Amino acid sequence: MTDTLEALDFDLMTTQDTSKLTHITDCPDDKESAQAWVDEARANGLEVTALCGHVWIPESDPIKHPVCQTCLDIAQIRLA
Ligand SMILES: [Zn+2]
Repeated sequence: MTDTLEALDFDLMTTQDTSKLTHITDCPDDKESAQAWVDEARANGLEVTALCGHVWIPESDPIKHPVCQTCLDIAQIRLA
């Protein structure tokens, strides 16, 4: 039972603290690429919506965070 409880705690932590994850975003229709869109949002302080629904303003150094598993799952489903 201990393993189950720990797993649940981990899920809660990752879903509630989404600001400390690197999320994946769609490329808006009027943008060149998702990366270009994130760069523009970062430069202008605009909000970006991730595949998982998390909304955030991109930081200057997003690579330091682990990638959001929910975003990864959705991205893999779309690529499949
Ligand atoms: Zn995400």
